[in-house]
Amino acid sequence: MVFDRLKTLLATLLALSLAAPALAQQEENPWAKVQRPSSQQSASIGTYTNGCLAGAAEMPMRGEGFQLVRTGRNRHFGHPDTIRFLEEFSRRVARNDLGRIQIGDMSMPRGGPFNSGHRSHQMGLDIDIWYSQDWRAQERPLTEWERDNVSPVPLADEQEHRMLEENWDPRVPKILRIASEDERVERIFVHPTIKRKMCELAGDDNEWLRKVRPWWGHNYHFHVRLTCPEGDRTCKPQRPPRGDPCGPDLDWWFSDEFYAMLRGETPTPERPEPKPLPKQCQQVLIAP
Ligand SMILES: [Zn+2]
Repeated sequence: MVFDRLKTLLATLLALSLAAPALAQQEENPWAKVQRPSSQQSASIGTYTNGCLAGAAEMPMRGEGFQLVRTGRNRHFGHPDTIRFLEEFSRRVARNDLGRIQIGDMSMPRGGPFNSGHRSHQMGLDIDIWYSQDWRAQERPLTEWERDNVSPVPLADEQEHRMLEENWDPRVPKILRIASEDERVERIFVHPTIKRKMCELAGDDNEWLRKVRPWWGHNYHFHVRLTCPEGDRTCKPQRPPRGDPCGPDLDWWFSDEFYAMLRGETPTPERPEPKPLPKQCQQVLIAP
């Protein structure tokens, strides 16, 4: 059964996404302590959820069509290709009159696992972008305090899986489509309710929604994942999403079974032991 396989997969992924806070209890996470990128040739090493980043570049604080937020976390590093992608993408957003995007978590200076939050973002190819934009930021840069304290606006209710229509912004599908149609983008995660709404709005013109995947928790930001950089043999690609861009897979996210899991009434499968990072990551950690 397709559904059974899907359920197993989702349950495993859910468990993986919940695995991140466990790390916070471990005292030592050397990746969170490193302040600067390594002076190595740039490479994304490992997988999105188990890897690191050599020779990272830092995203500028602000530029045409973008503004960083939550800069106090030191998570605005990426593979140089990621920085290039973000600058080009933001420029297209601005030049299509879609505003100025606010960019949250990217990766830490040498990648690796975060202490809190999500499990991915480990090799400099994952980016969180808020659905909401701060209109005041159009005129002037945010202050340091604002960058760390301005609140994102949720588009969907996380517990009940319904849209918060009063917060809906018609620019959102346009911005997401620009990202999705860029061949450097591997997939985009959004809250299932937001995916469902965009499928309804798109009708038959929905091929671009294939890369837009429903995922737990993405109610106030979407998550752009880039493909492995060209020629980077240390980066392990994911299988591209297939099937109907707006197929019945989406229904599972609105089933009783899913809600029971969300409320913790049915057990999630056992959490797999975290795998050791690829060997090259030790070099990344100790490199000058
Ligand atoms: Zn993310």
